Amino acid sequence: MSILDLLFPRRCPFCGKPVGKKLLCDSCREMLQRKEPGVITLQGMRCVSPLFYEGNERRAILRYKFNRKMGALDCFGRLMAQSAAQEFSGEFDTVTWVPVSQKRLRERGYDQARLLAQSMCRNWQTEPESLLCKTVDTPAQSGLKRVEERRANVLGVYEVVQPVYGKRILLVDDIVTTGATLHECVRVLNEAGAAEVLCLTLARRR
Ligand SMILES: [Zn+2]
Repeated sequence: MSILDLLFPRRCPFCGKPVGKKLLCDSCREMLQRKEPGVITLQGMRCVSPLFYEGNERRAILRYKFNRKMGALDCFGRLMAQSAAQEFSGEFDTVTWVPVSQKRLRERGYDQARLLAQSMCRNWQTEPESLLCKTVDTPAQSGLKRVEERRANVLGVYEVVQPVYGKRILLVDDIVTTGATLHECVRVLNEAGAAEVLCLTLARRR
């Protein structure tokens, strides 16, 4: 145990209980396993998520996404690695993420989906690849309710920045609601010749 562990004991990201060397507490782990969302097909894409976006899980994600609470990253990355291994084992060769725009990156200081992808990849001693960039700073999807509005909001705003021809890609994002953002990223990756794109998000809205 390091001095930092004594001063700042690791806490369960979902309920706040001290957890020692574990990434989350036993009761939250059991609760999450019981209601695990698993894989769905959304607008023709296969998408897996370890969490539903609700309750303590939602609060933990909001603390991470907007309040710079990075303590949960190891836990989130582990949960995502487990979901990917369960559902998509052997089906992808590389991992990438849904990027934020340069403007958003400057404001927030970090790209939340990139950090999630990196944390997940650490479980496999590898690194995600930067394959996409967001060329336009769009209003947040969360402010738009209808699927058509969400689709229109992200249409044409992502570009492929590295060759993806023939690649089988696992695309990571934080939350999936209607799938409009993922769908647009999958579309441009497929157009650039990707062999397959699978989706993984930390959480899915019910
Ligand atoms: Zn807990």
